[in-house]
Amino acid sequence: MKIAVLPGDGIGPEIIKQAVKVLKAFGLENILEYAPIGGAGFEAFKDPLPKSTLELAIAADAVLLGAVGHWKYDKLPRDMRPERGLLRIRQSLNLFANLRPAIMFSELIHASSLKAEVVSGLDILIVRELTGDIYFGEPRGIVTNQKNEREGINTMRYSESEIKRIAHVAFKTALKRSKKLCSVDKANVLETTELWREVFIETGKEYPEVELSHMYVDNAAMQLVKNPKQFDVIVTGNIFGDILSDQASMLTGSIGMLPSASLDANNKGMYEPSHGSAPDIAGQDKANPLATILSLAMMFKYTFNDQEKFNLIENAVKSVLREGFRTEDISSEGTNLIGCEEMGDKVIERLEI
Ligand code: NAD
Repeated sequence: MKIAVLPGDGIGPEIIKQAVKVLKAFGLENILEYAPIGGAGFEAFKDPLPKSTLELAIAADAVLLGAVGHWKYDKLPRDMRPERGLLRIRQSLNLFANLRPAIMFSELIHASSLKAEVVSGLDILIVRELTGDIYFGEPRGIVTNQKNEREGINTMRYSESEIKRIAHVAFKTALKRSKKLCSVDKANVLETTELWREVFIETGKEYPEVELSHMYVDNAAMQLVKNPKQFDVIVTGNIFGDILSDQASMLTGSIGMLPSASLDANNKGMYEPSHGSAPDIAGQDKANPLATILSLAMMFKYTFNDQEKFNLIENAVKSVLREGFRTEDISSEGTNLIGCEEMGDKVIERLEI
């Protein structure tokens, strides 16, 4: 077993340090290998995804990533920017299935901007296709058109096989939960997603136990804040998933709580919090490390098939929250404000190994 650890930029190193403490508590520090990515990769090797980092990630069984990006790299050529390293590693490892759970921990009910009755008990999972769609489709670029004005071009594109493989992941995921799957598209307007819907209906015939429904993305955005508990597993394409999963994150109070897993066809995965590198709070011991720690829990569940360690980590996080410890992003009156480092320590103390 080998885990590639890629701390990245901004709060990345701080939050990764807390997840590594959990790995150490399990006696697994010997299977970790570190490498730079994003701005850190650019600083070390003039490449946001250095060759040695990619080789390590390919050789590892799983990848644990912090976050990438910083405003200071915004002026670099697009290919050198930190975010490009992230897109490249997802693509190179063929991590086409992104799983983002949005779970309302009862202890954090008041951190949500929605009414408690709307979000209490919320437990949904968004399956986002991650390596296709308008983010990767060609042609793309900014050109000068025949009227001699600038024109921006991106292409929304999905092949049948790309849709089929994410459909299988979504149906299998739904089978392990409440067997309800909602596929989100814009089939009334976009041909790409018309095909998406057709392929989902065809693939669904192989999963008769799963109740498949369809929803247009604009309605899904509305339903997610109106009545989010109607959903169990939502599956959608790359761009719709990007937006809906961030929206879902706010249902649960803070993006600092949301883990994610990006998987290939064999459940090799890259595990990272859903948030970015938060340069505004980097180096101040203010970051919430729980999304990263919960991402590590997902690694045990999905890549190492170790439900026991998943439960141990999730229960430790719940205990810490129940006792009232909070980082700033989730704090409220009457709770005990602590920093990133102490939050990591509290989780270790509550791990019932
Ligand atoms: P962000 O997610 O980094 O931050 C948004 C807001 O949430 C900020 O106020 C930040 O302080 C807060 N926040 C984020 N994570 C937090 C945590 N763990 N604890 C407490 N507060 C937290 O998004 P942004 O500000 O739009 O982007 C900052 C940089 O991150 C950019 O360079 C962007 O490109 C990059 N980014 C990277 C990823 C990734 O690595 N997966 C994802 C999104 C954005």
